[in-house]
Amino acid sequence: MSQNDNLFKKIMRGEIPSAKVYEDEDVYAFKDIAPAAPTHILIIPKAPLDGLNELTDADALIAGKLLVTASKLAKELGLEAGGYRCVINTGEAAGQTVPHLHLHLLSGRDFRWPPG
Ligand code: 5GP
Repeated sequence: MSQNDNLFKKIMRGEIPSAKVYEDEDVYAFKDIAPAAPTHILIIPKAPLDGLNELTDADALIAGKLLVTASKLAKELGLEAGGYRCVINTGEAAGQTVPHLHLHLLSGRDFRWPPG
């Protein structure tokens, strides 16, 4: 569990405005402020988890909920046909800049593999 305050906690509390896409008791989803694709949504758990490194068996439901939410949003937004990519950057070297677990849901353009 994270003890620290961070940007995404402030967003969830409404202290920093965000373009909400979806919310339930477990997760909050909002548009990325600097979109890397025509559709770029961040899905975050309400639980104070810093990132994938923190997860234990006790977090299996919430970890799964991130993926299920991505799948549901992809259907609702009509992303299935064109394809989409889900990314969880973990650690600075991998590009994680906010220390709160978040899944990027990206769509609307072609993506390269392997990612740069
Ligand atoms: P990371 O680099 O940690 O995987 O992803 C953090 C993401 O948060 C980045 O894609 C960045 O554009 C996004 N971001 C940073 N600050 C804000 C903000 O104030 N509002 C929103 N909506 N997104 C933000």
